[in-house]
Amino acid sequence: MNILILGSGGREHAFAWKLRQSPLCEELFIAPGNPGTAQCGSNLPFAATDFDAVRAAVLQRGIGLLVIGPEEPLVKGLVDFLKEDPALQGLAIIGPAREAAQLEGSKAYAKAFMARHRIPTASYREFTIDNLDEGLAYVRQHPLPVVLKADGLAAGKGVLICQTHDEAATELEAMIRAAKFGAASARVVVEQFLDGIELSVFILTDGKDYVLLPEAKDYKRIGEGDSGLNTGGMGAISPVPFADAAFMEQVRTRIIEPTVRGFEAEGLDYKGFVFFGLIKVGGEPYVIEYNCRMGDPETEAVLPRIAGDLGAALLATAQGRLKGVQLPADPHHAATIMAVSGGYPGDYGKGFAIEGLALRPAEGSYLFHAGTADKSGHIVTAGGRVLCATTLAPTLAEAVAGSKKTLEGISFEGMYYRKDIGYEF
Ligand code: ATP
Repeated sequence: MNILILGSGGREHAFAWKLRQSPLCEELFIAPGNPGTAQCGSNLPFAATDFDAVRAAVLQRGIGLLVIGPEEPLVKGLVDFLKEDPALQGLAIIGPAREAAQLEGSKAYAKAFMARHRIPTASYREFTIDNLDEGLAYVRQHPLPVVLKADGLAAGKGVLICQTHDEAATELEAMIRAAKFGAASARVVVEQFLDGIELSVFILTDGKDYVLLPEAKDYKRIGEGDSGLNTGGMGAISPVPFADAAFMEQVRTRIIEPTVRGFEAEGLDYKGFVFFGLIKVGGEPYVIEYNCRMGDPETEAVLPRIAGDLGAALLATAQGRLKGVQLPADPHHAATIMAVSGGYPGDYGKGFAIEGLALRPAEGSYLFHAGTADKSGHIVTAGGRVLCATTLAPTLAEAVAGSKKTLEGISFEGMYYRKDIGYEF
């Protein structure tokens, strides 16, 4: 079977690396990919949101399985576009249809879905220009801090945690009236602040049955000890020490199962990954957000811990026959550390030569490319998050040490990475 992966980050390199190992995989294509994915298959030069180019590639390359990495094409309806095409009826697709992708594309949609299915989450209300005055009065009497969320996709920047009522009122007005996050903040969800510790749980579902994947914890802040600005993610660990069997049982019964039953009850076409952004408050799990695809860098920690054939599981998912499929987890600890460009998440330079890529990581360690480019045969930096090291080891401390060792062999101008991933455990 020929496989096409859409996307160009570390997540897609990890998918390409894992799917290359599947006995089902004949030819592997990645669009647009990066120099890391080019080591696993053939890169194709078009964007994941170019629907016509995706369709043409599926036909020309005889693709049997399409794996959609990022959220944007899902929320824009790529799956519906392809499934409606009579010429593509045999294509197996990993990713939900447009309606179900609203679980990520609209925070108000996700909150209403959780309310309908009694899934634990922060209490909330939503406001638009039509009831902005009511919203301003509402935030002024809301317990502090007040969480404001732009309804639509805002590249991970649309959530504000306001420490004063003045700030909450000013920001609510800026989001709705002054379009602070463009059309994404025409509607705003105002939410109760939950104080706890976060983790990410992932399933693969065909809309009826599901397989639980290894959980992960990501490190979003740029600075050590979780200080400074938010980023796309500076590292991740898996397993998560506080996600013990009793807690995960609550996650299953209170969150995962009602979600999948909700898909079935509402007739949502969901064949793919669900990423549950959870927070543990007083020992109990609450949903902070749904994502309709895998996370980055969590994927780079999770996929190396999947011991089974991911290609076969993805095909079964897309074909609606996931019942009975198992994907055992490797008991080793994974630690992923992201090397970023100097200045990130603010302004940073690009095009710096990366040294040390010829060194092979030690046994059990992997190096995934994120923002890299091939400039006439030389690999250079091409984004904020540049390279991602993962190590599997018997303990978390050894896994972290292994990934640091991999990155110590790499250098580029301005290179920075957190040395404290997993520090609280
Ligand atoms: P992401 O980049 O993670 O996809 P997003 O823009 O979709 O982010 P959320 O995940 O909903 O937004 O929120 C971002 C972060 O804000 C969360 O990871 C969490 O740290 C914090 N947060 C969101 N909602 C709450 C809440 N109700 N209580 C406390 N913290 C919250």
